[in-house]
Amino acid sequence: MEYIVSARKYRPSTFATVEGQENITATLKNAIKNNQLAHAYLFCGPRGVGKTTCARIFAKTINCQAITSDFEACNECASCKSFNEQRSYNIHELDAASNNSVDDIRLLIDKVRVPPQMGKYSVYIIDEVHMLSQAAFNAFLKTLEEPPNHAIFILATTEKHKILPTILSRCQTFDFNRITVETAVQHLKYVAEKEQIAYEDEALNVIATKADGAMRDALSIFDQIVAFSGRNITYQQVIANLNVLDYDYYFRITDAFLVEDTTNSLLIFNDILNHGFDGSHFLNGLSSHLRDLLMCKDSQTVNLLEVGASIKQRYLEQAQKCDAEFLFEALKIVTNSELNYRIARNKRLHVEFALISLSRIVTEKKKQLN
Ligand SMILES: [Zn+2]
Repeated sequence: MEYIVSARKYRPSTFATVEGQENITATLKNAIKNNQLAHAYLFCGPRGVGKTTCARIFAKTINCQAITSDFEACNECASCKSFNEQRSYNIHELDAASNNSVDDIRLLIDKVRVPPQMGKYSVYIIDEVHMLSQAAFNAFLKTLEEPPNHAIFILATTEKHKILPTILSRCQTFDFNRITVETAVQHLKYVAEKEQIAYEDEALNVIATKADGAMRDALSIFDQIVAFSGRNITYQQVIANLNVLDYDYYFRITDAFLVEDTTNSLLIFNDILNHGFDGSHFLNGLSSHLRDLLMCKDSQTVNLLEVGASIKQRYLEQAQKCDAEFLFEALKIVTNSELNYRIARNKRLHVEFALISLSRIVTEKKKQLN
């Protein structure tokens, strides 16, 4: 059996199945419904959030011969089939990261003039459009100003600020969202269930966090873990595989700070170093941990916590034990230590000194009160 990576196997084929970009898919569907298609679109946003996927769905939908009452592609007609089998002549994709010369653009411009044999529209997707050379941009601009009726351009970029104003002003712009941890986890659950892979919620959560807003990355990390650990994904396997420090260390060390237990905090840090993690990695995780605790202090910011349900409870409990002032002081110490980590001669001592200061926050406060 041919092995297909999850990002491809579970690529959405309709607007409704695109995850985390509801505003954009609704607007595109509306444009189709009202027959108000622009000639040029600019899709901006981080990598792996569905820009190309949406562009392909859009191209397929506007060429569909039996569009559904919900303005989705039918996925059954000859045109839809040719799209789904990647042999449609109505879609042309150019990756400007590797084809950015004037000649590449000229080839494309020559194609644009020819009306499509089948279907209404020829859609040209130019990925990473900010990478086009200046000369290529200039050559393209004329076509973008006066495109033939059958041509629609979808320009995609991860770096909107590099797009020239002359291009921006000619495009209808869509800003794609980062994929939230929650959305990524939901999708991973869906894929795991389809593939009959057992999982622990926290394991998927770590994968989604590591993917940092990109669904494609979340799926490829997922594949990597499945290849490594088989059909049962546990939290412990995932953190070992991704070299992530267990949440538990941060909870324990924060508890140590709260009871002024310098000794224990130093021993926990020693344990972390023995597991092969370095000091800056630890400080970075610790500042995120303190940040998450601080978010728990307010009913509105608690939604900014990007952790799984089971671990969330643990955050809420620990946050109850910390007052806001403690968290503020602690963050000050940790961010300062992160900033100076690079220039510290003795890295270990540098972190240990921060830990001693953290264990003294409560002590200092008591002194002030007396
Ligand atoms: Zn169709």
